[in-house]
Amino acid sequence: MRQLIAGNWKMNGTGASLAELDAIREAKPADADILICPPATLIARAAAKGAVPIGGQDCRAQVSGAFTGDVSAEMLKDAGAVAVIVGHSERRQHHGESDAVVAAKARAAWRAGLLAIICIGETEAERLGGHALDVVTRQIAGSVPDGASPENTTLAYEPVWAIGTGRTPTNAEIVEMHGHIRARLAARFADAAGMRILYGGSVKPANAREILALADVDGALVGGASLKARDFLAIAAASS
Ligand code: PEP
Repeated sequence: MRQLIAGNWKMNGTGASLAELDAIREAKPADADILICPPATLIARAAAKGAVPIGGQDCRAQVSGAFTGDVSAEMLKDAGAVAVIVGHSERRQHHGESDAVVAAKARAAWRAGLLAIICIGETEAERLGGHALDVVTRQIAGSVPDGASPENTTLAYEPVWAIGTGRTPTNAEIVEMHGHIRARLAARFADAAGMRILYGGSVKPANAREILALADVDGALVGGASLKARDFLAIAAASS
């Protein structure tokens, strides 16, 4: 399977940042898929450049309505997005999103014809308490709707304690968790073997090659290191 290297710009970037997309286009690898998820304000302009596939960072489950400040999956599609991240831990933490809400957002993504990148991952307390696998099992059960397939869904395992901290799980912990996620998906979906499982959390040029070579790691979701084309391209070049 081709690996996917997805960049999450979070709440960073203005029009000037779109030049990074030109730099990515110039040097993007031939043997990996890439995706950039800029803030909502840049999606239409980013997509119009045609430099790289563009995704959203979140969507609301409803098509339209009285939801001030929110964006629907249909709006992202209309703006030129091909994918949307749902259930990022920053949404779960700061916006109180439950697994049920995340599942509804994933279904909304499918309804609009977008790839849903569904994020899961344990907190540090949950890992230290020995509950990481159980937490992720519960998140998969609640956040990944029936009907998931390799075409409409990608999973992103992002341990909350590794996001933006410079810390990563050991290789053995990543392999154990990705194998566990694959097994949980296989218990529900016939084509789970073809479903991408990304690793996310402090992926950088210095550790990308090692992480991307691990079993059942089908790409990376990259936050901070996706803001500069040079770092993002170095990570993409390390894909196996
Ligand atoms: C993320 O927010 O999805 C992420 C992986 O962030 P970072 O790479 O900065 O840890």
